[in-house]
Amino acid sequence: MHLVVTEKDLAAKRIAEILSDGTAAPTKVASASAYRFNSTVVLGLRGHVVKLDFPEAYRDWKVNFHDLIRADLVTVPTHKAIVLGLKRAAKDADRVTIATDFDTEGELIGLEACSIVKSIKDVKVERVRFSAMTPMEVKRAFRSPTQIDLNLARSGEARQAVDLIWGATLTRFISTAANRLGDRFLSAGRVQSPTLALIVDREREIAQFVPEPYWEVFADIRIGSETFQAKHQTDRFQDKASAMSAAQKIDATATVVRFVKSARVDAPPPPFNTTEFLAAASALGISASRVMEIAERLYTAGWISYPRTDNTVFPNELDLRLIVSMFKSGPFAANAQSLLQKGSLVPTRGKKQTTDHPPIYPTARATPTDLEPRSWKIYELVVRRFFATLSDPARWCTKKADLESGGEPLKATGLELSEPGWRYHYPYAHIQERRLPGLQVGAVLAVTDKKVLEKETQPPQRWGQGALIKKMEQLGLGTKSTRHEIVQKLAQRGYIDLSPLRPTGIACSVTESLERYAPTIAKPDMTRLLEEEMEKISSGALAKEMVVINSRDILEQVLDRLDERREEIRASLQASLRRDATVGTCPECGSGLIVRRSKRGGRFVGCSGYPNCAFGLPLPKSGRLRVTARKCKHHDMRLLKVQTGTRLWDLGCPQCNYTSWREKNKEG
Ligand SMILES: [Zn+2]
Ligand SMILES: [Zn+2]
Repeated sequence: MHLVVTEKDLAAKRIAEILSDGTAAPTKVASASAYRFNSTVVLGLRGHVVKLDFPEAYRDWKVNFHDLIRADLVTVPTHKAIVLGLKRAAKDADRVTIATDFDTEGELIGLEACSIVKSIKDVKVERVRFSAMTPMEVKRAFRSPTQIDLNLARSGEARQAVDLIWGATLTRFISTAANRLGDRFLSAGRVQSPTLALIVDREREIAQFVPEPYWEVFADIRIGSETFQAKHQTDRFQDKASAMSAAQKIDATATVVRFVKSARVDAPPPPFNTTEFLAAASALGISASRVMEIAERLYTAGWISYPRTDNTVFPNELDLRLIVSMFKSGPFAANAQSLLQKGSLVPTRGKKQTTDHPPIYPTARATPTDLEPRSWKIYELVVRRFFATLSDPARWCTKKADLESGGEPLKATGLELSEPGWRYHYPYAHIQERRLPGLQVGAVLAVTDKKVLEKETQPPQRWGQGALIKKMEQLGLGTKSTRHEIVQKLAQRGYIDLSPLRPTGIACSVTESLERYAPTIAKPDMTRLLEEEMEKISSGALAKEMVVINSRDILEQVLDRLDERREEIRASLQASLRRDATVGTCPECGSGLIVRRSKRGGRFVGCSGYPNCAFGLPLPKSGRLRVTARKCKHHDMRLLKVQTGTRLWDLGCPQCNYTSWREKNKEG
């Protein structure tokens, strides 16, 4: 029997379909689901089916951290049914093909499966790699199998080990210091903590920002039947008096002093790698982790190429014209036709060139009826970006005019799209056009209106998910496969609100403690070092063991420093935990409102002035409660969220909820 192992069940189904030309049927191996045709069985894993962990004895959080850092790690099954199925299938197999995803994580998952198989039977194991789940690509890969890349898998193992050791040690230190044990623990980690620090630092800048007023002076000017707006050459007046006096001097006419028309070339964007893709897709209002989920499903169903890639340069082997030709009919027919008319299709190139996967491109033509609306939106983005990278530049016509009125210098600008080029295919990055009529130097025009506007300087903006993920890539934090998950995890751990990205009080204190006493952790340098070392493991220049040993040494120094300041850290964490748990102000007595437990074990928002004040509001019975930083518009109360499993639900204002519940009950 020929056993084929894929990363997920969906991929198993798809690959079985392709290899069998549609004749494969679902089956079970032990209790794991698989697909069978002729003498081949295709079995899908669930990503990692084993995990690296500390031995049983180290589960106790009282273990000394020196011992924890030095512990020998063990591999334990996380999906027992699949591990059993794999062992069972191995017994009958005379040949095994690993067809997991083609990247570091996939290589490691493949190696894990291979070790399970080999623990049963020493059978020949091959590896196939492909970047698109299309019949052509998959069949090509199965015709020329190779070996598992052990170095690549080992670099994945090194990351796993380092992340586990750092995560467990730091999390335990912070949680025990704050006395938050059990499911209320406070997590910290090698990638997580520097990412959180980015968000906390930005919030600090916003909090410290002092807005400054400034004034702008405008004049409306008429030429023929058209009116355009001119602005004073002094962009921002620092005081009102000088703005007013400038405006006063502007009189009934303005003279054109200078008029320049020029053309601007607006180059098409680079092909999508994961980071660029996530940044563009988040701008459509879908969270990064949801985008990745959708992209993986589109890949497994054969609609787009592998979405985890660093590459922004299309390889020469890819037949771009053939891909465009797929779209000759259907919703993108006009786009495809216009591209195919071009003599040659030369794609844009981004800065990053790697050889693992091509940038993300469409692998089959879908129509809106093939996909649910959100998947269609993502698919359409990939198609349109692909078209854009093959298009001509857009061209803009810019106009600049200097004018003079009552001795005051004015200016006006115009911006018009003269040739849409790539923007015809890719309408996402919209730029507002501004019309300015052609002007003659020396012409005297009528000023029809003038005004002074008071404005304020604005604080820096909060991170959007897309921008944050781009920044993480720049700093070498996480990988194309993990960045979006880390952001999600920070939200689940109660460290941030997702939209907008905003840290909670405890996130600020944890970050502050780390920045002050263990700066190595809050800064991205350490992480970048590990990424570099992992590259060396993959190229065979460095042994995995050396990297793990180095990393243990660094961590031990970090922990020693933290431990010396344990008492200070404890005090600061506990103070902010108390602040964080405050829901608002009691409307009856003005004391703080906090989440309280009743004698029967239920919970409610109660007054800290109890027993003198008995004010209370009900709360749902289950789920982890989160007090967000945002306040209700009507009450002095902060909005609540509740987490069940990995999902966060908006609960809103406890007072508003109670009022509307009471009203509904009255009606009933
Ligand atoms: Zn009260
Ligand atoms: Zn309210």
